[in-house]
Amino acid sequence: MGKPTGFMEINRQVSLELPPEERTKNFNEFHIPLHPDEQQAQGARCMDCGVPFCQSGMLLGGMFSGCPLNNLIPEWNDLVYRGQWDLAVKRLIATNRYPEFTSRVCPALCEAACTCGMTTGNPVTVKENERAVVEYGYESGTIHAVPPPSRTGKRVAVVGTGPSGLSVADLLNKRGHKVTMYERSDRVGGLLMYGIPNMKLEKWVIDRRVDILKEEGIDFVTSTDVGRDITAEELKQQYDAVVLCCGAKQPRDIGAPGRDAAGIHFAVDYLSSVTKSLLDSNFADGKAITAEGKKVLVIGGGDTGNDCVGTAIRQGCTGVTQLEMMPCPPVSRAPGNDWPEWPRVLKTDYGQQEAIAKFGSDPRLYKTTVKEFYKNESGQVCGALIAKLESQVVDGRRMMVPTGEEFAVECDLVLIAAGFTGCESYVSEAFGVDMTPRGTVADTKYATSQPGVFACGDMRRGQSLVVWALREGRDTAAVVDEYLMGYTNL
Ligand SMILES: Cc1cc2nc3c(=O)[nH]c(=O)nc-3n(C[C@H](O)[C@H](O)[C@H](O)COP(=O)(O)OP(=O)(O)OC[C@H]3O[C@@H](n4cnc5c(N)ncnc54)[C@H](O)[C@@H]3O)c2cc1C
Ligand code: SF4
Repeated sequence: MGKPTGFMEINRQVSLELPPEERTKNFNEFHIPLHPDEQQAQGARCMDCGVPFCQSGMLLGGMFSGCPLNNLIPEWNDLVYRGQWDLAVKRLIATNRYPEFTSRVCPALCEAACTCGMTTGNPVTVKENERAVVEYGYESGTIHAVPPPSRTGKRVAVVGTGPSGLSVADLLNKRGHKVTMYERSDRVGGLLMYGIPNMKLEKWVIDRRVDILKEEGIDFVTSTDVGRDITAEELKQQYDAVVLCCGAKQPRDIGAPGRDAAGIHFAVDYLSSVTKSLLDSNFADGKAITAEGKKVLVIGGGDTGNDCVGTAIRQGCTGVTQLEMMPCPPVSRAPGNDWPEWPRVLKTDYGQQEAIAKFGSDPRLYKTTVKEFYKNESGQVCGALIAKLESQVVDGRRMMVPTGEEFAVECDLVLIAAGFTGCESYVSEAFGVDMTPRGTVADTKYATSQPGVFACGDMRRGQSLVVWALREGRDTAAVVDEYLMGYTNL
């Protein structure tokens, strides 16, 4: 610990955000990082407290708290404070191979568990310290391609290039196995590329890393759908092991009358069309699903719904409403949800802030769902009947049930962000791997029911977080390495 009294002397300082009116003019990232000297001072606030829940990543009160990667947070905070940036990079990447992703999109489970935040609500700026360290790593050249010194002669196919696939591929390649990554999309990155919007993660950040992975010897085969363009048998014959990292993209639908109306889209289809058009042509191709001049209804009050709100506002929608089935959470921790548990409190994310700035009110309507979609004569959605809900105990279970109160809203574009029900079935069927009732791949420590076939990330875990995908990739690499070599040093 560099400065025992740092947390008492130095206030929490975070990066500046461009105001909503400014940042919604484009799809760029909108945080302005602190000066390195300011970031260094923030490192001093970490007191290496002896109970570093920040790095524990444990299940508390039914939710995970602390970093799932077990990042060595107090260590690199101290190195930041001392200005030993090169060493900080080394300690950071010892556990987290892709801090440039987590430091932009992670919900920072570490900060929720930070001792500094216990009573004051001002935790150490772990996530922004992480970003400063990794960006220093790139600028200084500390992060650069390091191909493995020798090869084992083993070949591994990784299906899917999301964060779990990139994580498992990187470590297996470092170990000396020859890794080929297959991706059905035209670009590498999974939901990092076509899911998370550009303003949260600019896509050059992914390309910068992929360039390094290529230099280190990983082969990428894009626009190739495994199970359709290339068979499972072909892959099993060509490789010593196959790792399935195909995500959990099967969306939960809304089975209300009128669902067949035009203008109703799943959130990920909408978000990926926008990012693809932005990257391909800066929107000149007109291929993005657009909210311009439209009243938008977003179904789902979670993070994906928020991304839809922020994206629709950038496209120039004339109004946005976001439906959430559950009641509004409390503004501060309720009794029984104490530190260091993840705080179940109201979060007003960037999209909702932008809606408040543009339209004057929070877009979220709590305890509501869609009962029916209305369509006009040409079959285009033009409104929805909304049912109000209340919490009741039914057959011993607490559920949200209709109150009988209903009202109509006008809308020309509906975006369904109601969660995911598991992975698409054609890949698991092609490989003949067993599935769980939750729609994910059944496994024993990442090994599926088929010898030599492994699975990790959302495909195994269900829709989760980038940081969990990275953790699963790391663990799976060790399991695959042991399968190939009879022992592992990963
Ligand atoms: C809109 C949205 C926003 C999100 N925002 C955040 C956030 O801010 N922070 C956060 O931590 N998490 C966020 N998440 C969750 C996070 O993105 C995922 O948990 C994470 O990307 C899962 O990684 P993965 O590698 O398991 O799968 P994915 O990222 O889904 O990648 C799977 C890849 O496999 C490919 N694939 C599938 N089938 C085949 C096949 N047959 N052949 C070849 N390739 C195939 C897909 O094209 C895809 O590229 C968000 C999710 C969504 C939907
Ligand atoms: S990966 Fe997420 S939880 Fe872990 S240290 Fe970084 S911001 Fe915190």
